[in-house]
Amino acid sequence: MPNKKELAIATNEKLSKYSTFQIGGPADFFYKLEDPADLIPLFKFAKKKKIPYFIMGGGSNILFDDNGFRGLVIKIDNKNISLSPGPKGSILLTADAGVSIASILDFSIKNDLSGLESWVGLPGTVGGAVYGNAGCNGLETSEILTEASVLDDKNCRIRKVPNNYFNFKYRQSKVKTSKEIVLSATFKLEKRTMSAEDQKKMMTEIRQSRIAKQPFGASTGSFFKNPSKAVPAGRLIEQAGLKGKTIGQAQISTKHGNFLVNLGGATSQDILKLARFARQAVKLKFGLTLQEEVQILSANGLQKL
Ligand SMILES: Cc1cc2nc3c(=O)[nH]c(=O)nc-3n(C[C@H](O)[C@H](O)[C@H](O)COP(=O)(O)OP(=O)(O)OC[C@H]3O[C@@H](n4cnc5c(N)ncnc54)[C@H](O)[C@@H]3O)c2cc1C
Repeated sequence: MPNKKELAIATNEKLSKYSTFQIGGPADFFYKLEDPADLIPLFKFAKKKKIPYFIMGGGSNILFDDNGFRGLVIKIDNKNISLSPGPKGSILLTADAGVSIASILDFSIKNDLSGLESWVGLPGTVGGAVYGNAGCNGLETSEILTEASVLDDKNCRIRKVPNNYFNFKYRQSKVKTSKEIVLSATFKLEKRTMSAEDQKKMMTEIRQSRIAKQPFGASTGSFFKNPSKAVPAGRLIEQAGLKGKTIGQAQISTKHGNFLVNLGGATSQDILKLARFARQAVKLKFGLTLQEEVQILSANGLQKL
């Protein structure tokens, strides 16, 4: 009988290390998943211990709790990328869910491909992007994803599903409710037709415009969803006079009203209080209730603001 693989499950792992907010206490158990085959023994482990599990990618859209998580955090960390021919001369780039957006962009550029330039500076992983239909500069995940592999923890079946399976909407996908785990995704790209120099120039311009608009501090990007394209949450927060508003070590950025920034040593409670304050102020002034874009993980599971 072959030996069962020993899973290197860490204990009391500080989640702040894995969060762009740099906030979060210890997870009771933590596992970096490089091989999806490990998911089945991990589910068994969680079931045996009667604890929940939580999937994360790059940690750029999660507020972890100061008290950590009383369960198993699985950080998706599989890293393969490959290319194959697509329809009408297009090229399909398939990346594991744990690959960063920066890496697929880099890979596409090195292979003389075009299509991902708008995502310069977009943090997070492929799995996180599918989960939240991430996007910027006019390009959302839904517009270039052709199919993805997902795993359902109830039957541990891996399925390849097409784009329309996800019911993508603004910062929304089916995975948010189905709780499936994204294992990989395929994006439709094109062979580069502009010169390499022009492509580089285009990306430099996009990068510079991001830098001009966004603060540097530890954050999760936009905290709230925009109520509509014409009404960005950041503008509402700014017009409510809240830029620079500080609670504890959490601040509404002086540069961008929708960025809540950890000034250093902010607690999850500082961030939550500040977010609720902003939501209340916007409700009073404009009658609109902001919905959080960020996923808030309490010690026992996902919670609402
Ligand atoms: C400075 C900054 C700027 C940002 N700008 C933008 C922007 O312009 N546009 C934008 O859309 N977002 C932006 N964000 C937010 C963030 O980058 C995106 O939401 C990103 O897609 C999150 O990916 P992640 O891998 O970090 O996910 P995580 O933060 O790790 O997780 C987010 C959610 O996705 C789920 N998840 C992650 N991986 C998987 C998987 N494999 N299968 C199933 N569920 C999964 C998690 O359970 C969690 O609920 C910004 C963030 C920062 C810090």
